[in-house]
Amino acid sequence: MKLVYADYNATYPCSESHFDMVSRVIKKTQGNPSSIHHFGREAKLILEEARQQVAAIFGAERQSILFTSGATEANNLAVQGFFKRFHRSSQRSPKPHMIISQGEHPSITQPAEWLRDQGLVDLCKIPLSNDGMIDHKALMAAIREQTVFISIIYANNETGIINPIEELTRKIKQQRPSIHVHADAVQAFGKLDISWIGASQLDSASASAHKVGGLKGVGSLFLRSGSALDALLLGGGQEQRLRSGTENMPGLVSFGLRAREILAKPDWLLTCKKVRDHFVEHLLQIPGACVHGDLRWTLSNTVNFHIKGLGGDILMLQFDINGIAVSSGSACSSGVGAPSSVLLGMGFSEWVSLNSVRVSFGAGSTVGDSEHILAVIKQAAGGS
Ligand code: PMP
Repeated sequence: MKLVYADYNATYPCSESHFDMVSRVIKKTQGNPSSIHHFGREAKLILEEARQQVAAIFGAERQSILFTSGATEANNLAVQGFFKRFHRSSQRSPKPHMIISQGEHPSITQPAEWLRDQGLVDLCKIPLSNDGMIDHKALMAAIREQTVFISIIYANNETGIINPIEELTRKIKQQRPSIHVHADAVQAFGKLDISWIGASQLDSASASAHKVGGLKGVGSLFLRSGSALDALLLGGGQEQRLRSGTENMPGLVSFGLRAREILAKPDWLLTCKKVRDHFVEHLLQIPGACVHGDLRWTLSNTVNFHIKGLGGDILMLQFDINGIAVSSGSACSSGVGAPSSVLLGMGFSEWVSLNSVRVSFGAGSTVGDSEHILAVIKQAAGGS
């Protein structure tokens, strides 16, 4: 059976040559990067090289990158670390105000809701407009004197829709420079040019290696110098005392290598775009097919859609039987069977939000893959 992998937003599989490159580096470097002897110093050099490579994607200084266990931790560090410090150094009243969009990943939503439920913040969730972006007017109108933290997803993992983070950061800072602005840049890293971040006023941004063909279990937080957080993990004081724990050397070597490769070939997504555009063009010829959001502001590898009257579970079953890997709703909560809060936020009905599918292509995708997926959809929809 032909196997088709079209779930790159969930994870981008590592190539064999990548595994080989990582293992070559790691076999030579077994020391602990915090040790001061020769082996430790050698590991430290490799650690800092990887940091430099990841920083380059952000157009930032090496010191502004903190390695974490993934973007879930990076987002939690930004949100919880900010408020941990805020409550240590500021008066408790009036209560600080936090703004997030309705399109955030659970690794932002859940710590934010936890802080709200503990009575530590007032939380405001900004709705999405029909095109899937955060409602700009509602965002600016929600800012008040007590607003101290705003988090906006850069590119949505389910829909691929891109928020204009550079412009929004500028507007927020113009209105209130003291607000910490955070972007979940997981799906933007390596797919969009985010090198403007280093010289901007954005305070923090998260990324994850396994979304760009690196190993799972490693991520990073870009943190602008002067933007203060408290650590969540206490211990040996690694990562500028902001994230204790011996660094995941294989993971961060992998992350650094992928960052270097992406910088050397920034147009790698063009092939995905050709495949995605082929897919969309033919999908829209299937009766009842509806694509979500405006593709002009969508990651060029992603399409989120539904087929009127055709259950997402039936479609997913047919995909699986035919060797096709795609996602229904958010990959992180797949299997939960809850309607997508992102699609609900865009104004889609509960039925659409429950029965939509995300196809996300990657470097290895071909027009043949697109044709195979389309054939299965046509068959499930009752066509030939
Ligand atoms: N944010 C977004 C937008 C994501 O897509 C993901 C992964 N689904 C995460 C955060 C969490 O990343 P990680 O798997 O590295 O914890």
